[in-house]
Amino acid sequence: MSIELTWLGHASWLVFVKSSTTGEHRILIDPFLDDSPTAPVKSDGVSADFILISHGHFDHIADAAKIARRTGALVISNYEICEWLGKQGVEQTHPHNLGGGSEQKFGRVQLTLAFHSSALPDGSNGGNPSGFLLSIDGANLYFACDTALFGDMRMIGERGIDVAVLPIGDQFTMGPDDALRAVKLIEPKVVVPSHYGTWPPIDQDAQAWAARVKAETKAQPRVVQPGGKISV
Ligand SMILES: [Zn+2]
Repeated sequence: MSIELTWLGHASWLVFVKSSTTGEHRILIDPFLDDSPTAPVKSDGVSADFILISHGHFDHIADAAKIARRTGALVISNYEICEWLGKQGVEQTHPHNLGGGSEQKFGRVQLTLAFHSSALPDGSNGGNPSGFLLSIDGANLYFACDTALFGDMRMIGERGIDVAVLPIGDQFTMGPDDALRAVKLIEPKVVVPSHYGTWPPIDQDAQAWAARVKAETKAQPRVVQPGGKISV
């Protein structure tokens, strides 16, 4: 079994799972590609079997409907976002709510708490924002998605997190200081910064942050450029 994470810029990630028992699965998280200044690929160039949407903001959902319609991918999100995408011709949706999970072909997905907001681009109610915990063949991947720091991250960490993907951009999410505190709560083996460098308000020095992670925690920081890959 192998798991590979590719950063598609901003908060967009592609998780590629290759398993001798369950086959190959492409899990696309928060696709924002066509209008992202840092995305290495456009929406018509990605393949997906599953699309996970953390909340309703344009920089997470902008390309979800068109990719889902083209690929037939199953969209996993909260109830309100699944309903909204359904009205845009997305046929395969699997609604959840916070704390709820389900078994999928690649493994288990669970929606975790996230402290943020979630209005959809047309002003519709986008439900509650979430993060995602993916359990794939014994490996736990935690995507905090857009969130503030919160103490219950420690409970997520109690599962034993192999890879945590955390926002460090500041202004709209945790910044570098709180993301470092999050690493201390979660205690992941590997931590990856996300949601930075897209536009000036969220520019951050990810290498400097990684150096602090290395000095102050046991986690191994991994910084990639958009298009870069991380093997789990
Ligand atoms: Zn965002």
